[in-house]
Amino acid sequence: MTAELLARVKDFAATELAGKDGHFDGLPEQPTVEAARLHDLGLANWWVPRQYGGLGLSVTDSVDVVSELAYGDAGFAFGSFLPVLGGVMLQHFGGEELARPVLRSLVTEGGRIAVLGSEEEAGSELVRITTTFRAEGDRLLLSGDKYFSTNTDAAGLLLVLARSAEDAADFAVIAVPRDTPGVEIVERWDLLGVRGAGTYRVRLADCAVPATHRLQGSGLRILEASLNASRILIAACAVGIARRVRDLAMDYAAGKRLRGAPLTENAVFAAKLGQMETLIDVMRNQCRAAAAEFDALLDTAAAGGTGLHRAGTLRSALAAKLFCGQAGWEVVSTGSELFGGLGYTQDHPIGKLVRDMRYVAIVEGGEDIMRDLVYARYVVPARKRR
Ligand SMILES: Cc1cc2nc3c(=O)[nH]c(=O)nc-3n(C[C@H](O)[C@H](O)[C@H](O)COP(=O)(O)OP(=O)(O)OC[C@H]3O[C@@H](n4cnc5c(N)ncnc54)[C@H](O)[C@@H]3O)c2cc1C
Repeated sequence: MTAELLARVKDFAATELAGKDGHFDGLPEQPTVEAARLHDLGLANWWVPRQYGGLGLSVTDSVDVVSELAYGDAGFAFGSFLPVLGGVMLQHFGGEELARPVLRSLVTEGGRIAVLGSEEEAGSELVRITTTFRAEGDRLLLSGDKYFSTNTDAAGLLLVLARSAEDAADFAVIAVPRDTPGVEIVERWDLLGVRGAGTYRVRLADCAVPATHRLQGSGLRILEASLNASRILIAACAVGIARRVRDLAMDYAAGKRLRGAPLTENAVFAAKLGQMETLIDVMRNQCRAAAAEFDALLDTAAAGGTGLHRAGTLRSALAAKLFCGQAGWEVVSTGSELFGGLGYTQDHPIGKLVRDMRYVAIVEGGEDIMRDLVYARYVVPARKRR
């Protein structure tokens, strides 16, 4: 990515997101005016590959883009980058006929793709979903209730994880245009944090789509491989939020006097900020390392390789999300105490940043599931290690 492009993103965050904590924390209508502005500037869906007219930024580049956006508002960042999950699914498993018009329209219209996996009884355990599809002539009919789905109302296309009504072991991802009869937004969640994004409960009642809208391969496998991208970028949100906490702390300390000297000259404060800076570095480095690994897989997949499908969940991506969730929590926890009583009021943004940070550890798999995945896949007896 050129430095010029990142400077434009930074500038966007400074002019369009900064100073609007109240607006984003107030569950703004979706899509937000700021999302339209990002599109007007030619920066929305920055990851869409060049062959579809996009800027073609890699996931590695996206780590810095997301960090800048999340510095302004994590919810806005979340809603803005999440279509990358559906984008990877479509491009690598959807086939050109299905993928091209959608990816093109993300560039020309600045729209969104939503992914509907989780259900009330099946978030981490997607194998337990009850949303079904059944074939009827050359159409597929989908029915079920999806518990959490971000961007759905503003999206042009929904990618729905469903299982065959005839064969419970057959999972599919099926592309459902948002305006398909039977798609109903049941409610928008009143989220604790990342309220600048829109997350919904959605009902699908006999939604009919052409059979060609089924993505190629096992739905669970498609989701598993593609989640690497969004998990890394959720982790990158933590980097942006943590950088903001650090900068707020420095501003506050410059004006706060303690025992006759500015707080910035206090050794205890220095130790806290030294720890924060180190955590931010390691968080960012892990996001970049995971992104570079995933980018290499995307490149081989684009060249006709099967690496992406076979790779499944990358340990580096799991580590990025797990570590950034934990380190980010440490940063906001230190931050929330650092501003004294002011930090415990709604007059200071730290309360919002604490709530925003919490989502990093929870969405797309909580810490327990991250650790479980690492253990199940990567912790093997010494004799079996390569
Ligand atoms: C803001 C937001 C946006 C979201 N957006 C989307 C979206 O766009 N699309 C979508 O499909 N979903 C979305 N989700 C759903 C989200 O990904 C899930 O909520 C998340 O993965 C956790 O799943 P769960 O809610 O089923 O809880 P679970 O993971 O089932 O957790 C419940 C409890 O079980 C425990 N647990 C889980 N697994 C293990 C384990 N292996 N070992 C031990 N204990 C375990 C947990 O620690 C926890 O105590 C969103 C959620 C939120 C909050």
